[in-house]
Amino acid sequence: MKILVVNCGSSSIKYKLYSFPKQELLTKGLIERIGEKGSEVKTHKEGIRCLFSKLIENKAVKDLSEIDAIGHRVVHGAETFQKPHIIDNRVIKEIAKCCQLAPLHNPANLEGIISCRKILPKISQVAVFDTAFHQTIPQRAYLYAIPFYYYKKYKIRKYGFHGTSHQFVAHQAAKILKKPLQKLNLITCHLGNGCSITAIKNGLSIDTSMGFTPLEGLIMGTRCGDIDPAAIFYIMEKEKLTTNQMYDILNKKSGLLGISCLSNDFRILKKEQKSNIYAKLALDMFIYRIKKYIGAYMLILGKVDAICFTAGIGENNPEIIFQIKQDIHKILPKTKILVIPTDEELMIAKLTYQLIKE
Ligand code: ADP
Repeated sequence: MKILVVNCGSSSIKYKLYSFPKQELLTKGLIERIGEKGSEVKTHKEGIRCLFSKLIENKAVKDLSEIDAIGHRVVHGAETFQKPHIIDNRVIKEIAKCCQLAPLHNPANLEGIISCRKILPKISQVAVFDTAFHQTIPQRAYLYAIPFYYYKKYKIRKYGFHGTSHQFVAHQAAKILKKPLQKLNLITCHLGNGCSITAIKNGLSIDTSMGFTPLEGLIMGTRCGDIDPAAIFYIMEKEKLTTNQMYDILNKKSGLLGISCLSNDFRILKKEQKSNIYAKLALDMFIYRIKKYIGAYMLILGKVDAICFTAGIGENNPEIIFQIKQDIHKILPKTKILVIPTDEELMIAKLTYQLIKE
Protein backbone atom coordinates (compact mmCIF):
# COMPACT_ATOMS: atom_id res chain seq x y z
CA MET A 1 0.00 0.00 0.00
CA LYS A 2 1.35 3.46 -0.94
CA ILE A 3 0.75 6.36 1.45
CA LEU A 4 1.58 9.93 0.50
CA VAL A 5 2.20 12.45 3.29
CA VAL A 6 1.58 16.10 2.43
CA ASN A 7 2.76 18.95 4.64
CA CYS A 8 1.62 22.31 3.29
CA GLY A 9 3.41 25.23 4.95
CA SER A 10 2.62 28.88 4.32
CA SER A 11 4.95 29.02 1.26
CA SER A 12 6.09 25.44 0.75
CA ILE A 13 4.86 21.86 0.36
CA LYS A 14 6.91 18.97 1.77
CA TYR A 15 5.95 15.46 0.75
CA LYS A 16 7.02 11.88 1.38
CA LEU A 17 5.74 8.69 -0.21
CA TYR A 18 5.86 5.47 1.84
CA SER A 19 5.18 1.83 1.22
CA PHE A 20 3.19 0.17 4.02
CA PRO A 21 3.23 -1.99 6.09
CA LYS A 22 7.03 -2.00 5.56
CA GLN A 23 7.18 1.73 6.38
CA GLU A 24 9.69 2.13 3.57
CA LEU A 25 10.34 5.65 2.25
CA LEU A 26 9.97 5.55 -1.56
CA THR A 27 10.58 9.21 -2.37
CA LYS A 28 10.42 12.68 -0.88
CA GLY A 29 10.49 16.24 -2.10
CA LEU A 30 9.86 19.90 -1.51
CA ILE A 31 8.09 22.56 -3.49
CA GLU A 32 9.29 25.96 -2.34
CA ARG A 33 8.62 29.67 -2.69
CA ILE A 34 4.90 29.23 -3.37
CA GLY A 35 3.30 32.58 -4.13
CA GLU A 36 6.62 34.44 -3.86
CA LYS A 37 7.80 37.00 -6.42
CA GLY A 38 9.24 35.36 -9.52
CA SER A 39 8.15 31.86 -8.50
CA GLU A 40 6.47 29.65 -11.13
CA VAL A 41 4.20 28.12 -8.51
CA LYS A 42 1.65 30.77 -7.59
CA THR A 43 -0.74 28.86 -5.32
CA HIS A 44 -0.88 25.71 -3.20
CA LYS A 45 -3.29 24.29 -5.78
CA GLU A 46 -0.55 24.59 -8.42
CA GLY A 47 1.95 23.26 -5.89
CA ILE A 48 -0.11 20.08 -5.40
CA ARG A 49 -0.34 19.57 -9.20
CA CYS A 50 3.43 20.03 -9.37
CA LEU A 51 3.86 17.45 -6.56
CA PHE A 52 1.84 14.83 -8.45
CA SER A 53 3.76 15.53 -11.71
CA LYS A 54 7.04 15.05 -9.83
CA LEU A 55 5.90 11.68 -8.46
CA ILE A 56 5.29 10.48 -12.00
CA GLU A 57 8.42 12.13 -13.48
CA ASN A 58 10.60 10.54 -10.79
CA LYS A 59 8.91 7.19 -11.47
CA ALA A 60 7.85 6.92 -7.80
CA VAL A 61 4.46 5.88 -9.25
CA LYS A 62 3.45 4.95 -12.82
CA ASP A 63 0.14 6.71 -12.40
CA LEU A 64 -1.69 8.35 -9.53
CA SER A 65 -4.07 5.43 -9.02
CA GLU A 66 -1.17 3.67 -7.27
CA ILE A 67 -1.56 6.03 -4.30
CA ASP A 68 -3.81 4.34 -1.73
CA ALA A 69 -4.16 7.13 0.83
CA ILE A 70 -2.95 10.63 1.66
CA GLY A 71 -2.10 11.87 5.15
CA HIS A 72 -2.19 15.64 5.59
CA ARG A 73 -0.50 17.59 8.35
CA VAL A 74 -2.92 20.12 9.85
CA VAL A 75 -1.49 22.54 12.40
CA HIS A 76 -4.58 23.42 14.43
CA GLY A 77 -7.44 21.13 15.38
CA ALA A 78 -8.67 23.26 18.32
CA GLU A 79 -10.80 21.25 20.77
CA THR A 80 -12.66 19.62 17.88
CA PHE A 81 -10.00 17.11 16.85
CA GLN A 82 -8.57 14.86 19.54
CA LYS A 83 -7.17 12.33 17.04
CA PRO A 84 -6.62 11.93 13.29
CA HIS A 85 -9.75 11.97 11.13
CA ILE A 86 -10.73 10.66 7.71
CA ILE A 87 -11.46 13.76 5.67
CA ASP A 88 -15.03 14.36 4.52
CA ASN A 89 -17.02 17.56 3.95
CA ARG A 90 -17.80 17.90 7.67
CA VAL A 91 -14.11 17.60 8.63
CA ILE A 92 -13.19 20.21 6.01
CA LYS A 93 -15.76 22.62 7.47
CA GLU A 94 -14.40 22.07 10.98
CA ILE A 95 -10.77 22.60 9.86
CA ALA A 96 -11.88 25.83 8.19
CA LYS A 97 -13.35 26.95 11.54
CA CYS A 98 -9.92 26.38 13.15
CA CYS A 99 -8.32 28.82 10.65
CA GLN A 100 -8.90 31.78 12.94
CA LEU A 101 -6.70 30.10 15.59
CA ALA A 102 -3.85 29.47 13.09
CA PRO A 103 -4.28 32.04 10.32
CA LEU A 104 -0.78 31.46 8.90
CA HIS A 105 -0.97 27.68 8.72
CA ASN A 106 -4.46 26.17 8.56
CA PRO A 107 -5.53 27.93 5.32
CA ALA A 108 -2.48 26.43 3.52
CA ASN A 109 -3.22 22.98 5.02
CA LEU A 110 -6.81 23.27 3.87
CA GLU A 111 -5.87 24.32 0.33
CA GLY A 112 -3.64 21.26 0.09
CA ILE A 113 -6.48 18.98 1.24
CA ILE A 114 -9.03 20.47 -1.15
CA SER A 115 -6.62 20.32 -4.12
CA CYS A 116 -5.72 16.66 -3.45
CA ARG A 117 -9.40 15.74 -3.15
CA LYS A 118 -10.15 17.39 -6.48
CA ILE A 119 -7.38 15.45 -8.24
CA LEU A 120 -7.95 12.15 -6.41
CA PRO A 121 -11.59 12.24 -5.22
CA LYS A 122 -11.86 8.51 -4.59
CA ILE A 123 -8.92 7.83 -2.31
CA SER A 124 -8.98 8.11 1.48
CA GLN A 125 -7.42 11.23 2.92
CA VAL A 126 -6.63 11.69 6.58
CA ALA A 127 -5.99 14.86 8.60
CA VAL A 128 -3.38 14.57 11.36
CA PHE A 129 -3.34 17.51 13.76
CA ASP A 130 -0.30 19.04 15.55
CA THR A 131 -2.54 19.88 18.49
CA ALA A 132 -4.37 16.52 18.83
CA PHE A 133 -1.77 14.73 20.98
CA HIS A 134 -2.09 17.50 23.60
CA GLN A 135 -5.86 17.24 23.92
CA THR A 136 -5.37 14.98 26.96
CA ILE A 137 -3.89 17.89 28.95
CA PRO A 138 -6.19 18.50 31.95
CA GLN A 139 -8.06 21.76 32.42
CA ARG A 140 -5.91 22.88 35.36
CA ALA A 141 -2.91 22.86 33.01
CA TYR A 142 -4.47 24.19 29.80
CA LEU A 143 -6.39 27.16 31.22
CA TYR A 144 -4.83 30.60 31.68
CA ALA A 145 -5.76 32.39 34.88
CA ILE A 146 -7.64 35.17 33.10
CA PRO A 147 -11.42 35.64 33.35
CA PHE A 148 -13.04 32.30 32.46
CA TYR A 149 -15.32 34.23 30.12
CA TYR A 150 -12.50 34.45 27.52
CA TYR A 151 -12.17 30.70 27.42
CA LYS A 152 -15.90 30.30 26.97
CA LYS A 153 -16.23 33.04 24.35
CA TYR A 154 -12.97 32.74 22.36
CA LYS A 155 -11.55 29.36 23.45
CA ILE A 156 -8.42 31.08 24.79
CA ARG A 157 -6.39 28.23 26.31
CA LYS A 158 -3.17 26.29 25.89
CA TYR A 159 -3.34 24.01 22.83
CA GLY A 160 0.30 23.03 22.40
CA PHE A 161 1.99 22.16 19.10
CA HIS A 162 4.59 19.73 17.67
CA GLY A 163 2.20 17.00 18.89
CA THR A 164 3.04 14.59 16.06
CA SER A 165 6.75 14.87 16.84
CA HIS A 166 6.28 14.37 20.60
CA GLN A 167 4.05 11.38 19.88
CA PHE A 168 6.58 9.85 17.45
CA VAL A 169 9.45 10.29 19.88
CA ALA A 170 7.37 8.77 22.71
CA HIS A 171 6.64 5.71 20.52
CA GLN A 172 10.33 5.33 19.70
CA ALA A 173 11.29 5.71 23.37
CA ALA A 174 8.88 2.88 24.25
CA LYS A 175 10.59 0.68 21.65
CA ILE A 176 14.05 1.54 23.00
CA LEU A 177 12.99 1.00 26.63
CA LYS A 178 11.12 -2.19 25.64
CA LYS A 179 8.03 -1.20 27.61
CA PRO A 180 4.46 -0.39 26.55
CA LEU A 181 4.04 3.36 26.09
CA GLN A 182 0.96 3.30 28.38
CA LYS A 183 3.29 2.39 31.24
CA LEU A 184 5.86 5.11 30.61
CA ASN A 185 6.35 8.61 31.94
CA LEU A 186 8.48 10.72 29.62
CA ILE A 187 9.65 14.26 29.07
CA THR A 188 10.10 14.93 25.34
CA CYS A 189 12.07 17.98 24.20
CA HIS A 190 11.59 19.05 20.58
CA LEU A 191 14.39 21.53 19.98
CA GLY A 192 14.39 22.86 16.39
CA ASN A 193 13.75 26.36 15.11
CA GLY A 194 10.57 26.11 17.14
CA CYS A 195 11.07 24.46 20.53
CA SER A 196 8.63 22.75 22.87
CA ILE A 197 8.74 20.33 25.74
CA THR A 198 6.01 17.89 26.80
CA ALA A 199 5.26 15.96 29.98
CA ILE A 200 3.89 12.52 29.08
CA LYS A 201 2.22 10.41 31.77
CA ASN A 202 1.30 6.80 30.97
CA GLY A 203 1.74 7.63 27.29
CA LEU A 204 -0.51 10.72 27.31
CA SER A 205 0.43 14.39 27.12
CA ILE A 206 -0.41 16.09 30.44
CA ASP A 207 1.35 19.40 29.85
CA THR A 208 3.36 21.14 27.17
CA SER A 209 5.31 24.37 26.96
CA MET A 210 3.74 25.95 23.86
CA GLY A 211 0.39 27.58 24.46
CA PHE A 212 -2.47 29.32 22.69
CA THR A 213 0.10 29.88 19.92
CA PRO A 214 3.64 28.52 19.47
CA LEU A 215 5.01 31.65 21.18
CA GLU A 216 4.86 30.42 24.78
CA GLY A 217 7.44 28.37 26.63
CA LEU A 218 11.05 27.74 25.69
CA ILE A 219 13.35 30.29 24.07
CA MET A 220 13.39 29.55 20.32
CA GLY A 221 15.26 30.68 17.21
CA THR A 222 13.28 33.89 16.86
CA ARG A 223 10.44 33.52 19.42
CA CYS A 224 10.74 34.84 22.95
CA GLY A 225 8.92 32.06 24.84
CA ASP A 226 7.66 32.92 28.35
CA ILE A 227 7.55 36.62 29.19
CA ASP A 228 5.63 38.86 31.59
CA PRO A 229 2.77 40.28 29.43
CA ALA A 230 3.14 43.60 31.26
CA ALA A 231 6.59 44.04 29.66
CA ILE A 232 4.91 43.86 26.24
CA PHE A 233 2.43 46.66 27.06
CA TYR A 234 5.30 48.75 28.44
CA ILE A 235 7.41 48.39 25.27
CA MET A 236 4.40 49.10 23.03
CA GLU A 237 3.67 52.28 24.90
CA LYS A 238 7.28 53.51 25.01
CA GLU A 239 8.01 52.70 21.34
CA LYS A 240 4.51 53.55 20.05
CA LEU A 241 4.15 50.13 18.42
CA THR A 242 1.03 48.61 16.89
CA THR A 243 -0.18 45.14 17.89
CA ASN A 244 1.13 43.72 14.59
CA GLN A 245 4.55 45.30 15.04
CA MET A 246 4.86 43.92 18.58
CA TYR A 247 3.63 40.49 17.47
CA ASP A 248 6.32 40.52 14.80
CA ILE A 249 9.03 41.42 17.32
CA LEU A 250 8.03 38.63 19.70
CA ASN A 251 7.71 36.02 16.93
CA LYS A 252 10.44 36.95 14.47
CA LYS A 253 13.01 39.15 16.17
CA SER A 254 13.32 37.68 19.65
CA GLY A 255 14.67 34.40 21.03
CA LEU A 256 18.26 33.41 20.17
CA LEU A 257 18.32 36.05 17.43
CA GLY A 258 17.05 38.84 19.69
CA ILE A 259 19.55 38.21 22.47
CA SER A 260 22.62 37.47 20.31
CA CYS A 261 21.86 40.19 17.71
CA LEU A 262 23.64 37.72 15.46
CA SER A 263 21.62 34.70 14.37
CA ASN A 264 18.78 32.33 15.15
CA ASP A 265 20.98 29.46 14.00
CA PHE A 266 22.35 27.36 16.85
CA ARG A 267 25.43 26.34 14.84
CA ILE A 268 26.51 29.94 14.31
CA LEU A 269 26.00 30.84 17.98
CA LYS A 270 28.08 27.86 19.08
CA LYS A 271 30.88 28.87 16.72
CA GLU A 272 30.85 32.48 17.91
CA GLN A 273 30.28 31.98 21.64
CA LYS A 274 33.97 32.25 22.63
CA SER A 275 34.40 35.68 21.07
CA ASN A 276 30.84 37.03 21.31
CA ILE A 277 29.37 37.45 24.80
CA TYR A 278 25.84 37.86 23.43
CA ALA A 279 26.00 34.59 21.50
CA LYS A 280 27.14 32.94 24.75
CA LEU A 281 24.37 34.64 26.73
CA ALA A 282 21.72 33.49 24.23
CA LEU A 283 22.92 29.88 24.54
CA ASP A 284 23.04 30.09 28.36
CA MET A 285 19.48 31.45 28.49
CA PHE A 286 18.28 28.77 26.05
CA ILE A 287 19.68 25.94 28.16
CA TYR A 288 18.55 27.50 31.45
CA ARG A 289 14.92 27.68 30.23
CA ILE A 290 15.01 24.02 29.15
CA LYS A 291 16.27 22.97 32.58
CA LYS A 292 13.56 25.00 34.29
CA TYR A 293 10.82 23.20 32.33
CA ILE A 294 12.40 19.78 32.86
CA GLY A 295 12.51 20.46 36.61
CA ALA A 296 8.85 21.49 36.69
CA TYR A 297 7.74 18.50 34.60
CA MET A 298 9.74 16.07 36.75
CA LEU A 299 7.71 17.20 39.75
CA ILE A 300 4.30 16.98 38.07
CA LEU A 301 5.15 13.53 36.66
CA GLY A 302 6.60 12.14 39.89
CA LYS A 303 8.37 9.26 38.16
CA VAL A 304 10.26 9.87 34.92
CA ASP A 305 11.44 6.89 32.85
CA ALA A 306 13.30 8.92 30.25
CA ILE A 307 13.97 12.43 28.99
CA CYS A 308 14.13 12.50 25.20
CA PHE A 309 15.73 15.09 22.93
CA THR A 310 14.89 15.55 19.29
CA ALA A 311 14.90 17.89 16.22
CA GLY A 312 17.80 19.94 14.76
CA ILE A 313 19.25 21.17 18.06
CA GLY A 314 18.25 18.16 20.19
CA GLU A 315 19.72 15.63 17.76
CA ASN A 316 23.02 17.33 16.91
CA ASN A 317 24.49 18.82 20.07
CA PRO A 318 25.71 15.97 22.31
CA GLU A 319 27.79 18.29 24.54
CA ILE A 320 24.73 20.35 25.45
CA ILE A 321 22.60 17.27 26.12
CA PHE A 322 25.47 15.96 28.27
CA GLN A 323 25.47 19.21 30.26
CA ILE A 324 21.72 18.94 30.92
CA LYS A 325 22.10 15.22 31.71
CA GLN A 326 24.72 15.95 34.40
CA ASP A 327 22.33 18.34 36.16
CA ILE A 328 19.42 15.89 35.97
CA HIS A 329 21.58 13.06 37.33
CA LYS A 330 22.52 15.16 40.35
CA ILE A 331 18.87 14.88 41.41
CA LEU A 332 17.67 11.65 39.78
CA PRO A 333 20.73 9.57 38.89
CA LYS A 334 18.82 6.79 37.14
CA THR A 335 16.80 8.87 34.65
CA LYS A 336 17.58 7.74 31.12
CA ILE A 337 18.51 10.44 28.61
CA LEU A 338 17.73 9.51 25.01
CA VAL A 339 18.44 11.30 21.73
CA ILE A 340 15.81 10.21 19.20
CA PRO A 341 15.58 11.56 15.64
CA THR A 342 12.06 12.77 14.98
CA ASP A 343 10.08 11.89 11.86
CA GLU A 344 6.75 13.68 11.78
CA GLU A 345 5.96 12.51 8.25
CA LEU A 346 6.43 8.84 9.18
CA MET A 347 4.14 9.34 12.19
CA ILE A 348 1.51 10.91 9.90
CA ALA A 349 1.86 7.96 7.50
CA LYS A 350 1.51 5.46 10.38
CA LEU A 351 -1.58 7.20 11.77
CA THR A 352 -3.08 7.36 8.26
CA TYR A 353 -2.42 3.65 7.72
CA GLN A 354 -3.95 2.73 11.10
CA LEU A 355 -7.07 4.77 10.43
CA ILE A 356 -7.80 3.52 6.91
CA LYS A 357 -7.25 -0.09 7.99
CA GLU A 358 -9.92 0.19 10.71
P1 ADP B 1 12.65 23.19 12.09
O1 ADP B 1 11.95 23.49 13.37
O2 ADP B 1 12.63 24.33 11.11
O3 ADP B 1 12.29 21.84 11.48
P2 ADP B 1 15.19 21.94 12.70
O4 ADP B 1 14.63 20.81 13.47
O5 ADP B 1 15.84 21.65 11.39
O6 ADP B 1 14.16 23.12 12.51
O7 ADP B 1 16.28 22.68 13.65
C1 ADP B 1 16.95 23.83 13.28
C2 ADP B 1 17.97 24.15 14.35
O8 ADP B 1 18.83 23.03 14.53
C3 ADP B 1 18.87 25.32 13.98
O9 ADP B 1 19.07 26.17 15.10
C4 ADP B 1 20.18 24.65 13.60
O10 ADP B 1 21.29 25.46 13.88
C5 ADP B 1 20.18 23.43 14.50
N1 ADP B 1 21.03 22.38 13.92
C6 ADP B 1 20.78 21.65 12.82
N2 ADP B 1 21.83 20.83 12.53
C7 ADP B 1 22.76 21.06 13.48
C8 ADP B 1 24.08 20.55 13.74
N3 ADP B 1 24.62 19.62 12.97
N4 ADP B 1 24.73 21.02 14.82
C9 ADP B 1 24.17 21.96 15.61
N5 ADP B 1 22.95 22.49 15.43
C10 ADP B 1 22.24 22.06 14.38
